[in-house]
Amino acid sequence: MSTKAYFNGEIGNYDEMSIPLSDRSVFYGDAVYDAVLVLNKKPFTLGLHLDRLYRSCELTDIRFTMPREKLVEEIDRLLAVSEGDSLMLYLQVTRGAAPRKHEYPANTEPNLIMFLAPTKLPPKDKRASLLGIEDLRFQYCNIKTTNLMPNVFAAEKATKAGATEAMLHRGARVTEGAHSSILMIKDGTVVMPPLDELVLPGITRKVIHSLCDRHGIPVSLREFSVDELMAADEIILCSTTKNVIYVYEIDGVAVGGKDRALAQRIQALFLDEVYRETGARI
Ligand code: PLP
Repeated sequence: MSTKAYFNGEIGNYDEMSIPLSDRSVFYGDAVYDAVLVLNKKPFTLGLHLDRLYRSCELTDIRFTMPREKLVEEIDRLLAVSEGDSLMLYLQVTRGAAPRKHEYPANTEPNLIMFLAPTKLPPKDKRASLLGIEDLRFQYCNIKTTNLMPNVFAAEKATKAGATEAMLHRGARVTEGAHSSILMIKDGTVVMPPLDELVLPGITRKVIHSLCDRHGIPVSLREFSVDELMAADEIILCSTTKNVIYVYEIDGVAVGGKDRALAQRIQALFLDEVYRETGARI
């Protein structure tokens, strides 16, 4: 069965569906999106992803008025015709169609695009490596918009160099990956970059944060430098489709491996949470 897609209520095959040329996402990337892991047909932490999607709409003044309950119904309709145990639900809300002009008309009707595609998570023991790349993105990185060219360039460069992911940094400060969050463990504390306009509020790191709070593992939200990361006890790479995995190498230099007990505990807590909500062992 082919990947199923959705456009404003209509469901069809992914490679046969189209959107209007005048949609503002075509000319300006004027859209926000989110991605959710779906295991055993159960979306993991859907509520948190929808919170972020609606927040991205607010931050971009995209007036998406579909009530949340209706959106969940539409997701369920798409899920009902999709096959597979491990899927990624992609949702995109565009500002809508309008003649090409930078300023947007007040009355554009947002368009909703979704699809459910097979996804294969990396195994939990994957040995991740990072490639340091200057973070050249704009200052709206807290909004999950489809304006992703610098992320695309960084991901491409990292993959071509044989790395698992980019380690983006603004000068000395580490921000995140091209499409994942980067955390470190130092002296028994999980350190996460502060949630300012330079990083995406990742759902996976949010889940890790609340699991740590629940289990008495200290968490600190603060900036850290490339040098600090290189010297960290452990480095964790995480995202919806990348799982929660450890980093072994940055720019070809061995890193981490100094507090495997805590790193493994965090990974296990996360995987248990996935199991609790979806019944799937990853
Ligand atoms: N940072 C960026 C730039 C991302 O694109 C992503 C996910 O795509 C993440 C972090 C991780 O976010 P999440 O855990 O919600 O997948």
